[in-house]
Amino acid sequence: MEFCLQLKVCEGCGCLWFRAQGQEKVYCGSCEVKLRDFPLPETRKRRGRPGRKVRVPARAWATVEAAGGAA
Ligand SMILES: [Zn+2]
Repeated sequence: MEFCLQLKVCEGCGCLWFRAQGQEKVYCGSCEVKLRDFPLPETRKRRGRPGRKVRVPARAWATVEAAGGAA
């Protein structure tokens, strides 16, 4: 397996560091340690939505009511 390193500029302190290809990190090792406790902006996004609504067609309800009423 090959590793490709990319030269990156740290967004925290501006130093140059090498990042393995495929990683999403933007901070160098020391900044990453410093910032580990802070959430990244991307992770603050709201995730997901409340559960799906189940829609019952009006006709189905009418059938249920009719069946219940007839019994
Ligand atoms: Zn840094």
